[in-house]
Amino acid sequence: ASDSPEIAKLLKEELDRRGLSDQVEVLQTGCFGFCEKGPILEIHPDNTLYVEVSTSDVADIVEEHFVQGKQLERLLYIDPNTEQRFASDLPFYHNQLRIALRNCSYIAPENIREYIAADGYQALAKVLFKMTPDSVIEEIKKSGLRGRGGGGFPTGVKWELTRQGEAKQRYIICNADEGDPGAFMDRSILEGDPHSVLEAMLIAGSAIGSTHGFIYIRAEYPLAIHRLEIAITQAREYGLLGERILGSDFCFDVEIKYGAGAFVCGEETALIHSIEGARGEPSVKPPFPAQEGLWGKPTCVNNVETFANITSIILRGADWFSNIGTEKSKGTKVFALAGKVNNVGLVEVPMGTTLRQIIFEIGGGIKHHKTFKAAQTGGPSGGCIPTKYLDTPIDYESLISIGSMMGSGGLIVMDDSDCMVNIAKFFLEFTVDESCGRCTACRVGTKRLHETLTKITEGKGTLDDLDSLEKLSKIIKDTSLCGLGQSAPNPILSTLEYFRDEYLAHIVDKS
Ligand code: SF4
Repeated sequence: ASDSPEIAKLLKEELDRRGLSDQVEVLQTGCFGFCEKGPILEIHPDNTLYVEVSTSDVADIVEEHFVQGKQLERLLYIDPNTEQRFASDLPFYHNQLRIALRNCSYIAPENIREYIAADGYQALAKVLFKMTPDSVIEEIKKSGLRGRGGGGFPTGVKWELTRQGEAKQRYIICNADEGDPGAFMDRSILEGDPHSVLEAMLIAGSAIGSTHGFIYIRAEYPLAIHRLEIAITQAREYGLLGERILGSDFCFDVEIKYGAGAFVCGEETALIHSIEGARGEPSVKPPFPAQEGLWGKPTCVNNVETFANITSIILRGADWFSNIGTEKSKGTKVFALAGKVNNVGLVEVPMGTTLRQIIFEIGGGIKHHKTFKAAQTGGPSGGCIPTKYLDTPIDYESLISIGSMMGSGGLIVMDDSDCMVNIAKFFLEFTVDESCGRCTACRVGTKRLHETLTKITEGKGTLDDLDSLEKLSKIIKDTSLCGLGQSAPNPILSTLEYFRDEYLAHIVDKS
């Protein structure tokens, strides 16, 4: 989007012209995470990060860095608080722990040999030749890994449930239908490290007893799709997909299915209906997909980020993974840090990290020296968290206890110039649009909520409207079929609880 392919092309040409192309290799990677400062050029092993690089900088980079051997000061990112200038010392990276994102920005994702050089497909070999399906499932259960798509269901238990009972076929589905506005962790993993997801699907297939997997990805992700297609072709060429893996009895193949951008298709039963060619609407559970999923067969649906953790757990062990995080939420979580924060980007931190650490240490604080007001986690149906909870360690349970949720990892920061009633209205507009219409509470209820919020923001609201917002929100949460409706009122309920004074300020009749 910011000319990176053109910069890479010019860089190669300039290195060639200066006779340096046999000493310097130019690789195009996935996202570095530091989106605020892109395009980024990292030079290994010099630990140097050049930011906001443009095509006109290429000749200077080659001359100063590679010919004269010194850092090009004007493109260096020097942290304003710590004055660190080397990539690994920057607070943005130094305070992260990258497991799911470990290879993003580090390997060239279109080259399977780069992935293999970074221990790629070692975990699959261990699973096929040194472990049994039971021991693989036990290891994932022991690790404490929970679904990163939002639900937080224990991954190992899901695998175990899918494996139970007699079935001629079982399916693995990778949910890459990332729909939260502002969330791009799954896209970045697929763009930066597609083989890690394929390898994890192969591992899940061998553990569960499945020979076929699907990656359900939104069609609006062309680069992720392109790199996945390349990865699948390479894995087939290497005898990893589409045929029996040498020395084993295991054979697995993967197909890509394209979603049309409906938010509700991220819900696993709606996603399954969409793959089957039916309308993408959720259905009543039970039966759960692990019992009766795609075409009535046991189906394991895991999100991209969940899969991206699997190979590290197999290689480094469940104990290593479960030592990271909090008592009930193990490992790390990737957040898409957006809004009024200095370092907008993609960050991965251990569960239990506080919002303050993410926003102020990694995120570099609030833009333009303004004051923090709230952070919204969990996508459009998460709650808005006020200043008093900045030091709450973030995990699945703690976020729910303060009126929000983990969701897939969206994290939007607001400053003191944001009106929280407008924010709640903005998020509700999204859920009104995306409601599939199957249940009345969600289809009609969210519209009524939106009308009331509009009335309040236009200065025509009354105190009674606040009561009706609360009552209707609770009804929608209690009676909606799927997570979309059940969580849609969260932005309203949390802002009513923590920022009620802003609603009152909009209400003309304060009697
Ligand atoms: Fe559809 Fe909303 Fe009902 Fe979910 S809660 S099934 S999105 S109408």
